[in-house]
Amino acid sequence: MMRTDGHWQALVGSAREGRRELERAHERIADGTLVGDRGARAADLVSAEGHLCLPMTAGGVSVGVLGVPDSAGPFSDGRRRVLATAATLLGISLRNAQLFREVKDHTLRDGLTGCFNRTHAMGIIDLELRRARRSQMSVSLIMFDLDRFKEVNDRNGHLCGDAVLAAVGALMRDVLRGSDFKCRYGGEEFLVLLPETPLEGAKRVADTLRHDLSEMAIQWKGEMLTITASFGVTTAMPSEIDVKALIGRADVALYRAKDQGRDCVRLSVDTAT
Ligand code: GH3
Ligand code: MG
Ligand code: MG
Repeated sequence: MMRTDGHWQALVGSAREGRRELERAHERIADGTLVGDRGARAADLVSAEGHLCLPMTAGGVSVGVLGVPDSAGPFSDGRRRVLATAATLLGISLRNAQLFREVKDHTLRDGLTGCFNRTHAMGIIDLELRRARRSQMSVSLIMFDLDRFKEVNDRNGHLCGDAVLAAVGALMRDVLRGSDFKCRYGGEEFLVLLPETPLEGAKRVADTLRHDLSEMAIQWKGEMLTITASFGVTTAMPSEIDVKALIGRADVALYRAKDQGRDCVRLSVDTAT
């Protein structure tokens, strides 16, 4: 079991069998084995609920627990030493893997909003378009841009603008599904890619996001700020794999929303007609 950000993840063995009650039992055992983040050593073997448990640590950080069922026993001193060594080596490997994942994530995401960055987005949209072509499923794209955002900066300073952008990122995480791909495309422009979603579904998502954004109150130095955004929505044509064309259509629809008074959603079919 590996622990990241306070959550347990089963990596191998019976803990991964997918039965929720079994997972909970393993989490309980693992919790009981690790006492705090520091202090546990691989040499500290704990017997709990039919398991011999070995904390896995690296650099003083507990990264997980290796559990060996008692049915694999008996555990002689020699076998215990081998298991403790295995737990130590696994702990170091796990920590390296965790650090690698963290560093990689930092290069893909925008630190302010938590959204993926533009370069990564282009690759993902390309992949999703190809997947949609293979599976004959729809894929839609929402592009939105905060309205008169320059005024927020001019009136309250850039730190305030940054706080607003962070709040927009947090709202996107709340409102959108985990499978929706959220990207900061530019300064105050965002993209949301919706796999397996036709145009009408994407419009509903954009309507909800527009509404929730306009209702969001952002506290700044004792003041309450509100913002709005304009949205363009498009969907991939059957067999379309041109990322730039897809983004271009969402962009045209977005500019129509700006022209038609802002704080509204426009579809690329509206643009065509
Ligand atoms: P419109 O409704 O037409 O979109 O008006 P706007 O003011 O939002 O558009 P404009 O393109 O004139 O200004 C965008 C502003 O976004 C200007 C820039 O200072 C601000 N901005 C872009 N990135 C950031 C950022 O990371 N932090 C802050 N604080 N501001 C940013
Ligand atoms: Mg703007
Ligand atoms: Mg803009």
